[in-house]
Amino acid sequence: MKVTAHGNNLFQLTYLGCINMYLVREEDGFTLIDTALESCAEPIIQAAQQFGLPIVCIVLTHAHDDHAGALDKLHELLPEAEVAISARDARFLSGDMSLDADEPEDKLRGGWHIHKTRPSRLLHEGDHIGSLEVIASPGHTPGHASFLDTRDRTLIAGDAFQTLGGVAVSGTFVPLFPLPAFSTWHKPSCLESARKLRTLEPSRLAVGHGRILEQPLAAMDRAIKQAASSLGQSEQRATSLAH
Ligand SMILES: [Zn+2]
Repeated sequence: MKVTAHGNNLFQLTYLGCINMYLVREEDGFTLIDTALESCAEPIIQAAQQFGLPIVCIVLTHAHDDHAGALDKLHELLPEAEVAISARDARFLSGDMSLDADEPEDKLRGGWHIHKTRPSRLLHEGDHIGSLEVIASPGHTPGHASFLDTRDRTLIAGDAFQTLGGVAVSGTFVPLFPLPAFSTWHKPSCLESARKLRTLEPSRLAVGHGRILEQPLAAMDRAIKQAASSLGQSEQRATSLAH
């Protein structure tokens, strides 16, 4: 597991060069964002220990296997830690794969498992977990959530964007790393969420797959433009719809 520091409070943990987790430093310990695969549970705990802080909260951006895989094992090893995920994606953790009547009828893709662990906290748009603000960013999954560190505007965007193989909005086919695109639920929602995340003007973009980008706005703009054109939308049209 490779561990790198970014700014004062963010550590990126990378497994097999392609799956990221994050430790966000708070005064009372770390918030872990995403858990990768089951075999990552112990290395994640060791990574936190090397900085001398406990993991007090486990947060998932979404319920896919490569983000929730070590959840049960971590919950066993850290029974006191809070477990948080969006109320919407929490249903997938318990095996409920239904879509709601007001959600686009698209196929749920990607790897899913039923987990024993029940979240201790269900998240909604605008909630706060320590310094992190919850930003609903549906599209990759119906309940995908991103997290903005309000101290320095670091955006932890899960699979709403990827940077591995090129910066892209979820759902855009990236030949060098197509996994996020293959596991994406509804591309128009991904594009809408990407635009919403861009308006937050993050100073740093941290994603589930790929390296961290500093000052990411120009790269986000290019990725949004590309996603829009592949969906047959122009940015001008999107702007006029927004007004
Ligand atoms: Zn995913």
